[in-house]
Amino acid sequence: MKRREFLIQSISASAVIAGAGYASLDMLSRRHLRFERTVEQRATRAAAKVMVENNPTMDEGIASVLTPDTSSVMPLGEKTQARPALSYLQQQQAEQLMADLTIPDDELNIVEEVALPDTSIENIALATPQESAINVQQKVSNFETNYTDDVVLSEADYKLLVQSLERINRVQDYVGFGNFNVLSLDETLKYAKYSPRIGEFTKEELDFLEKMFNYNSSRLGFFGEKVIANITNVVATNDVVKMPGTGHYVFRGHSETFYNNLTSEVGDTLILTSGVRNIVKQYQLFMAKTVQASGNLSRASRSLAPPGHSYHAIGDFDVGRVGGGLANFTAEFASTDEFKKLQDLGYVQIRYTADNKLGVRYEPWHIRVV
Ligand SMILES: [Zn+2]
Repeated sequence: MKRREFLIQSISASAVIAGAGYASLDMLSRRHLRFERTVEQRATRAAAKVMVENNPTMDEGIASVLTPDTSSVMPLGEKTQARPALSYLQQQQAEQLMADLTIPDDELNIVEEVALPDTSIENIALATPQESAINVQQKVSNFETNYTDDVVLSEADYKLLVQSLERINRVQDYVGFGNFNVLSLDETLKYAKYSPRIGEFTKEELDFLEKMFNYNSSRLGFFGEKVIANITNVVATNDVVKMPGTGHYVFRGHSETFYNNLTSEVGDTLILTSGVRNIVKQYQLFMAKTVQASGNLSRASRSLAPPGHSYHAIGDFDVGRVGGGLANFTAEFASTDEFKKLQDLGYVQIRYTADNKLGVRYEPWHIRVV
């Protein structure tokens, strides 16, 4: 196994990174190989960055020491680089991963020039189904499998997804981890426009993002409701409160009270692992997941709600065990004392149960608040 693949696998238990997935190289034309080297490298790098910098790899235990607690959302114009800290080992792994995935500058623009091959990723996916089951429950149980009726991005759209994800990642670098959780699309576009380091979103990228937002998610096999109707949804500064040591926000009022009750009942080994997520944050996570699924939107939607469909935008939050790392976002969380204590409380519901009909994997860590 190449070191890069090893590093990626050690960072995300469920990661099947694009390029190492089901599209075998012999199916690809010479031109396609060039495409793989460029777009796929960039895609892998952008998705790895999201994995490295988001919750599954953070060491919640030391985050409280290293993450400054700013009590409000940053106004436009200021910036902070605060984000949850990685353990020393994770930090080393992350740095090595990023170094391995770094692409020389002269290759970075090739994607703009390359002629896209006739063979679409969609055809490749359809040609090599691992299973033809269409039952929702089977899909929920085997959420990382490709199915014949899955919706897969065309290569042109995949390229736009990668470009948009890279740009969104640069916005996160600019505004900082905490602020990025609640950033609106309009603010994002403003930062991109005025920061040469980020670069303005192209019309094609914006059209693509809008197309994703308006896509009927039930066609993906995701049957959860759309909770945010407007792509420009704003999370008001006064409506949220940052939880010290987590890099995450919860909504003031019911969510805040609920979270505080849970931590006082269960103890200080319970921690917020993801709170309020506005549209752009959800885009980032969903697009990184789509890269991991080699462009398979349906497979991504079995692990993560498409933008506009996440209850994180209106009050739900995720909890984990301090120091739990990756396992906090797997079914393993259900066997922790923290989860058992939550269940014993009697009033705690999880959003996506093992037998849910929404087409989403079992998520024992995702607390239903609204
Ligand atoms: Zn969640």
